[in-house]
Amino acid sequence: MVLAWHKGIIIDIQNESPTVKRFWIQLPELEQFHFIPGQFVTLDLPIAERRNKRWRSYSIANAPNQSNIFELVIVKLEQGAGTTYLFEQASIGTELLVRAAQGVFVLPDQLDKTLFLICTGTGIAPYRSMLQYIQQEQLPHLDIHLIYGCRNEEDLLFKEEMEAMAKQNEQFFYHPITSRSTYNSKRGYVHAIYESLCSDLPVAHFMLCGWRPMVDEAKERIIKLGYNKTNVEFELYG
Ligand SMILES: Cc1cc2nc3c(=O)[nH]c(=O)nc-3n(C[C@H](O)[C@H](O)[C@H](O)COP(=O)(O)OP(=O)(O)OC[C@H]3O[C@@H](n4cnc5c(N)ncnc54)[C@H](O)[C@@H]3O)c2cc1C
Repeated sequence: MVLAWHKGIIIDIQNESPTVKRFWIQLPELEQFHFIPGQFVTLDLPIAERRNKRWRSYSIANAPNQSNIFELVIVKLEQGAGTTYLFEQASIGTELLVRAAQGVFVLPDQLDKTLFLICTGTGIAPYRSMLQYIQQEQLPHLDIHLIYGCRNEEDLLFKEEMEAMAKQNEQFFYHPITSRSTYNSKRGYVHAIYESLCSDLPVAHFMLCGWRPMVDEAKERIIKLGYNKTNVEFELYG
C-alpha cells in the first residue's frame, strides 16, 4: 500500500531531558490526523540527495485526540544525520514532509493478560500513546506494568505524568529504573524488574521498544523464563 505524504509544520519544540527534545508537528492540510496508538511516522529530512536516505521514523508519543497535531520525543545521536538536523537546524515554523502513520506495534485486541511494556529512553513514546488512549477511552484491562530504563533520573521522560497515572489507576504500575545513578533507592536495568515480577509465570503479554541491545536481551530472557515467542512483540529503533 502506498502511504500518503503530508506537509507538516513544527509548531513547538521543548527540551525534555539533556539529550531529548519533544517536537509538536501540525499537518495543516488535514482536519484530523488518524493513527493507532503505537504507530510511527516517517519524516523526510533535508539531509541527503536520495529520498530513502532522508527518511527517519519516529513513534507518535501522544494518543489520537481529534486534532491534526502530534508529538514526537527524539534523542540526539552523536553523528546522527537526522537528529543533528532536527536538533541544530529545525526550528518552530520548519516545514517537513510526513508520511501517514504505519506500524503494527499496537495494543493487543483484548487486554485480557497482564501486559508488560518494557522500554529504554525514547522507547517510551509508543507506550505513552497507548496509555493515554487506555485512560481516555476507559478501556478495561488487567495489570499493566511500564518498566522504563534510563541512565539517570533526569532522563526519565514523562515521569510526573506516569506517576500521576499510576496513582489514579490501581491496575497500572510504573517501574522506572536508572543505570548510572541510584533513583528511588534502586539502580540497574529493566531486566531484573520483569524477571522478578514474572517469577511465578503469570499469563502475560510483553511489548519491547527501544535499541537493539535491550530488545535482544529482553527477548532472550523472557523466552528463558518460559514464555512463548508469540507473547513477545517488539519495535526496534536501531
Ligand atoms: C519504527 C521506528 C520508530 C522510531 N521511533 C523513534 C522515536 O520515537 N524516538 C527516537 O529518538 N528514535 C526513534 N527511532 C530511531 C530513528 O528512526 C533514527 O534511527 C534515529 O533518530 C537516528 O537517526 P540519525 O539520522 O540521527 O542517525 P543516522 O545518521 O541514521 O545514524 C545512525 C547511527 O549511526 C551512527 N553514525 C552515523 N554516522 C556515523 C559516523 N560517521 N561515524 C560513527 N557513527 C556514525 C550514529 O551515531 C547513529 O548511532 C525509531 C526508529 C524506528 C525504526
